[in-house]
Amino acid sequence: MFQMRNCVICLIAFFSNFAIAQTDQIRNPSKPKQAYFQQEVHYTINVALDDINHMLQADESIRYINHSPDTLTEIWFHLWPNGYKNTETAFAKQELLNGSTKFQFANENERGFIDSINFQVDGVSVSFIEDKNNIDFGKIILKKPLAPGAEITISTPFRVKIPSSKFSRLGHSGQQYQLCQWYPKPAVYDAKGWHAFPYLNQGEFYSEFGTFKVSITTPENYVIAASGDMEANPDEQKRIDENCVKTDSLKKEAPLKFGFNLPTPASSSTLKTVTYTLSDVHDFAWFADKKYHILKSSVVLPKSGRTVETYCYFADKDANDWFAAPQYVNDAVFNYSKWLGDYPYKVCKAVDGALSAGAGMEYPTITIIASQGDPIALDEVIAHEVGHNWFYGILGSNERDYPWMDEGSNSYYEERYMHLKYPNRNEIDAMVPRVGNTLLHTSDFAPNALRNLFYQFVARRNEDQSLALNSDQYSSMNYGAIVYKKTSNIYNYLAEFMGQDAFDEMMHLYYENWKFKHPQPEDFRLLVENFNGKSMPWLFDGLLGSINRVDYKICGFSKNNSKNYVSVRNAGQINGPVSVSGFKGDSVLTKWYDGFEGKKQLIFPLGDFDRYSVNATGAIPDFNPKNDEMHTSGILRKTGKIKLQVGTGIDYPRVTPIYVLPAIGYNMYNGLMLGGVLHNVGILRKHFEYQIMPLYSFNNKELAGATQFDYFIRPVNSCFRNVTLTASAERFALRYSPNYNRIVLGGTFDFEKRNESTKKSSSLNIRHIFIQSTPYLTSPEAESITQENNYNQITFNHKNSRASNPYSIKVDAQQGSTFAKVSATWNYRISYKQRNKGLDIRFFAGTFLWTSNDYNNGPDVRFRLSGQTGYQDYLFSDIYIGRQENSGLWSQQMTNTDGGFKVFSYRGQTTKYLATLNFKTSLPGRLPLKLYADLGTYENEEKDREIFNYNAGLIVSFIPDNFEVYIPLVVSKQIQSTLNLNTISFSERIRFVLNINAFNPARIFRTLDF
Ligand SMILES: [Zn+2]
Repeated sequence: MFQMRNCVICLIAFFSNFAIAQTDQIRNPSKPKQAYFQQEVHYTINVALDDINHMLQADESIRYINHSPDTLTEIWFHLWPNGYKNTETAFAKQELLNGSTKFQFANENERGFIDSINFQVDGVSVSFIEDKNNIDFGKIILKKPLAPGAEITISTPFRVKIPSSKFSRLGHSGQQYQLCQWYPKPAVYDAKGWHAFPYLNQGEFYSEFGTFKVSITTPENYVIAASGDMEANPDEQKRIDENCVKTDSLKKEAPLKFGFNLPTPASSSTLKTVTYTLSDVHDFAWFADKKYHILKSSVVLPKSGRTVETYCYFADKDANDWFAAPQYVNDAVFNYSKWLGDYPYKVCKAVDGALSAGAGMEYPTITIIASQGDPIALDEVIAHEVGHNWFYGILGSNERDYPWMDEGSNSYYEERYMHLKYPNRNEIDAMVPRVGNTLLHTSDFAPNALRNLFYQFVARRNEDQSLALNSDQYSSMNYGAIVYKKTSNIYNYLAEFMGQDAFDEMMHLYYENWKFKHPQPEDFRLLVENFNGKSMPWLFDGLLGSINRVDYKICGFSKNNSKNYVSVRNAGQINGPVSVSGFKGDSVLTKWYDGFEGKKQLIFPLGDFDRYSVNATGAIPDFNPKNDEMHTSGILRKTGKIKLQVGTGIDYPRVTPIYVLPAIGYNMYNGLMLGGVLHNVGILRKHFEYQIMPLYSFNNKELAGATQFDYFIRPVNSCFRNVTLTASAERFALRYSPNYNRIVLGGTFDFEKRNESTKKSSSLNIRHIFIQSTPYLTSPEAESITQENNYNQITFNHKNSRASNPYSIKVDAQQGSTFAKVSATWNYRISYKQRNKGLDIRFFAGTFLWTSNDYNNGPDVRFRLSGQTGYQDYLFSDIYIGRQENSGLWSQQMTNTDGGFKVFSYRGQTTKYLATLNFKTSLPGRLPLKLYADLGTYENEEKDREIFNYNAGLIVSFIPDNFEVYIPLVVSKQIQSTLNLNTISFSERIRFVLNINAFNPARIFRTLDF
C-alpha cells in the first residue's frame, strides 16, 4: 500500500519539479535559472573534556567541497563560544534588550570563550580576520582560490572555556556539561551568498550538511550522550548497559534511588575515548554527566518499517517525570514520520539537562530538555524538540532569517501531536495548568477555540509583527506569539481548507524534495502554489508577509428562490478562504469558500439552522472572533447572551460577558467603602472598554466611586501605534464637604516604535480636567465654598525601560484660569552589578509662564521643593488615604512630584522657578534599605531666593517607588528652621509613598508583557 503511495508521490514530485522550473523561467525570463547547489562538509573532531577547569581541548579538520558555481577566495567561520566572552557581543546585547541582566552582571569565570585557533588550509597556515563588529565570527583568506568542484581541508586546534549553563545553550552546571554550538564551523554559502552571523539566544542557525566523526575523551565514569552512532566500543557498551534502567524496575526504585540529588562522584583518573559518527546532518552536540541514568527503547517507523533506537538520559531529580520519556520520544518519532516522512537516522535521544534557552533545544538526533516538572509539559517539549529533526535537521532552512520555517512549521506538528494525545487540552491548560480554564471561564470552550489566542492577544494590542522578519527583529513576546503560534495557526488554516490528506501529501512532497537541503521561503511557496494549482498571495504576501489581518464578519442570512444565503463581510485586509458553518443543535454543516473583498452573499446548503458561524473550527487566524457568529432567531442575535462572570475572561462569539469583581476601599472621609467593579476588560483588547466601580461609603452613607471608559483606536501604518480616548469620573468625600467630583476627558497617543524589540517608547497625553471641590481650608466653614476648576494638561513621555540603566523623560505643561506652567522631569538609573540595585538620579526643573498670583483664593498650583502632600494635589491625580489631613499619620503620605524633597516643608513654594536633583541608592545586603539625598534651588515672589537646599536620609523600600518610607537624617538650615518653627517632631518628619494607582489590576494588565 505505501509503495503505491510512494509512486504517486514520485509522480507528483516529478510534475511539481517540472512546474517549478517552468514558473521560475517565466518569472525571470532574462536571468538563466541558477541550479540549486549546496556545499559539502566532512568534520573530524577530537575533543577532550577538562572537568576541573571546565575546558575543552580539541582539534578539528573539515573537508570542504565547493559545489557552488563560484570560485571562493574566503570561507566565513563561526566561533560561537566567543558570544559568551564579554558584554559587547551580539548575544550579550540581545539578552539585555530582552530584559535579562544575568549575563551582563555575571562574573568573569562564569563566561566562556574559544581560543587557540590556528587555521590551516591543506596544512598551510592562513589568516583569520574577525568580523569588524563581532568577535564570534570571521573569515579565513584562502591563499589559493577554491574553484567550483574543488575541495580543501581546513584544520585548526581550538580550546573552549565552557560558560555557566545559566545563560543560554552551551554551558555547564557543576560537572554536567551541555556542549552545543561549541566548535569552529563554516557559515553557509548558498545562491544568496555567505550567511555568517553572531551567536544569539533568540535566533537560531543555518549550517552546511555533511558528516561528523567526533572522538570524545572524558574521565571514564562520565555518561556521554551525543549526536549520532557510537563506533564499536565494547567497554563503553558495557558501561551503557550497566547504566540502563529497566523500565519495569524504575517505579519500584523511585523515589529511593532517584528522588533526590545524590552527590556527584569524583572523576576517575583513567580516561576513555568514545567516537560518534553521523551523516546527512549539519550539527553535532554532546552532553556529559557522571550521574545520568539511561532508558533505552525503540520505535518501528510507519512507512519503512525500520527500527529506530531511542535513548533518554535523565538526572535524579527528574526521575519521576522521565519514566515515561522513552514513550514520548517514540511517539514523536512515529507521528512526525507518519505525517512528513520517515526519520532517516538510526538513533533518537533526549537528554535532561540544565538549559537557559527556552524549555528545550534541538540538535541532530539528540535534544536537550530543561526540567519541566509536569509530565504533559515534558511530552510536549520532547515532541517539539524531536520534531525539529524534521524542521531544522532534515529540512535545513535558514532559521536566523526565516524563523517561521523551522519554529512555526514545527509548532504546527507539535500542536497536532498534543491534540492527538490530549484532545481536551487547550492553550490555557498549557499556560496555567489546572486552574486557568476555571479562572477565565473557558472550561466549556471547544479545545480548538483558543488556538489563535496568542496571535489575537498581540494583534489586538496592535503589537503584532510580520512573519517576514529576522529572528532578532521580534520582541521576545512575539517570537513566541507570532513566529511559533501564528505560523502554526496559518498551517492549521491551510490544512483545514485544503483537507488534511491533501495537506499531508503536500508536506510529504516538501519533505521528499527538500530533505538534507536548504529550502528557502520561495521554494516552499512554489511548492505549495504548484500543489494547489494557483497563486496564493493571501497566504504568502498576506499572512506570512505582513501584519494585515483576516477578519471575516457574519452580517446576516436570507432565503431566496429556494436558496440559502449567508451574508459575510471581509472586514480585514486579507482575502483568504473562509469557512461558514450552520448549526442545528449538535449537528453542524461546514462549507469553505474562496476569499473575497467586501461583502458577499454566499450560497449555503439548505437547512433549518439555529445559528451561522464563520470560522467555527477556529482554523482561521481571525482577528476578531466576536463578530463570527449570528443566531437565526431571538434578540441579541450577534452579541450572544449577556453573562455575568467573576474576574476576567475571554470574549467569544456566543456570550458577551460582563465581568464582576468585589471592591473594597477606605479613606478617612468616606470611611470603609464596599462595592464592586463591573467591567469588560478581558484578555483580548476591545475597541471599547469600561470599568464602573460604585462604592457605598459607610461614613457619609452616600455613593462614592470611580468609572472609566476607554476607546482604543488601532491605526495601521500610522505614526501612532495606539490611540486611546478616555473619559473618567470619580467622586469621593473630603474632610468637611461631602464630596468632590472630578471629570477627565482626554487622549493618549502612543507613538509607533522604531522596531518591536526596542524598549524605547514615547507617548503624548492631552487631557482636560474638571474638578468641583471645596478648597483646602482647615475649618468647617469651608463646607459652603465650592470651587469649580478647569485645567488643561499636555504631557509628553519618553522612556527606555531596558534592563540596565533605564531612563525616562517627561515634559508637562499645565494651564488653568490663574496660571500656566511647564516642567520637565528626567529619571535615570545607573544599574549596579546586582539585580534590582542601582543609583537613581532624578532631575526636575519647572517654571511658570504666567500667573495671577492668586493662589490664596484659587487652587494652590505653586511648584514646591517638597514632594506633594494630599491637600496639595490640586489635580486630584493621586490616591490619598487622608487627602486633607495636616496632622497625623495620613498627612505624612506623599507623592514624589516637583522638587521631590522627602522632608515636608513650606520652604521653596514658588510661582517662579524651581530646579532639583534627587538621588536614591540601593545599599548592599538583603534588607530593603536605600539612602536618599535631594538638592534644590528656587526663587519665589517674596524674593526669598535660596541657592542651596538639601535633605538626606534613609529609605525603607518595601516596593520600590510605590511603597517607600523616608526617614530624614540631614536637613539644610533654612528647611530646618521652618521645621523648628512648627515644632514638628522627628516622627512627624518621616513621610511615605503609597502609590495605590500602581496596583490597579486593569492598569497592570494593560501594560503586561511576557
Ligand atoms: Zn523549537
